[in-house]
Amino acid sequence: MRLPGVARFDYIPGEMKQTIVMYGNPVLREKSRVVEQVDDTIRTLARDMLDTMYAHEGVGLAAEQIGRTESMCVIDVTGAKPRPGRAPEPAPAMPMPVVMINPKITAMDGSQVGPEGCLSFPEVYVNIRRAATVRASWMDLDGKMQEADASGLLARAIQHELDHLEGVLLVDRMSVAQRVAVAGKLKRLKRGE
Ligand SMILES: [Zn+2]
Repeated sequence: MRLPGVARFDYIPGEMKQTIVMYGNPVLREKSRVVEQVDDTIRTLARDMLDTMYAHEGVGLAAEQIGRTESMCVIDVTGAKPRPGRAPEPAPAMPMPVVMINPKITAMDGSQVGPEGCLSFPEVYVNIRRAATVRASWMDLDGKMQEADASGLLARAIQHELDHLEGVLLVDRMSVAQRVAVAGKLKRLKRGE
């Protein structure tokens, strides 16, 4: 369901991509800080985050992942590759890409299990259980409050990115067995290899 008033954000692709912070960097464990006001710094950060996300073919990116602590994430699920044997994704409930400032999940329902990755954990894909639908609220780049319901991959992406803003990472959502299975990769990431 698309709620009224979710404005399209016209993103103009640029070259301002930043290096992605990898698992093991302490900034990924920081709690984000509330953005009080949308200014040029925030607008530039949003563009940098989008450029970086697209350059790495991600569907979402949180500010911590480029070493920043503003409460901000960007999401675009339209580039996700369809998975054979899985139902097609519902159309996203809001125009893509979306820049979410100070996002909150105000309601969640149901559950879904599906493969999840993270640009800060390259080559790690694990099945993670998430809520099937979420209602999210956030501030947009015009400083206006927005609210929308999301399901499918978009709901998963919102939950993943909001975890980042709390310093919670993919590894924290894994079962013990999953963590054991990717322990070698995690160790190499932490060593910066
Ligand atoms: Zn991530």
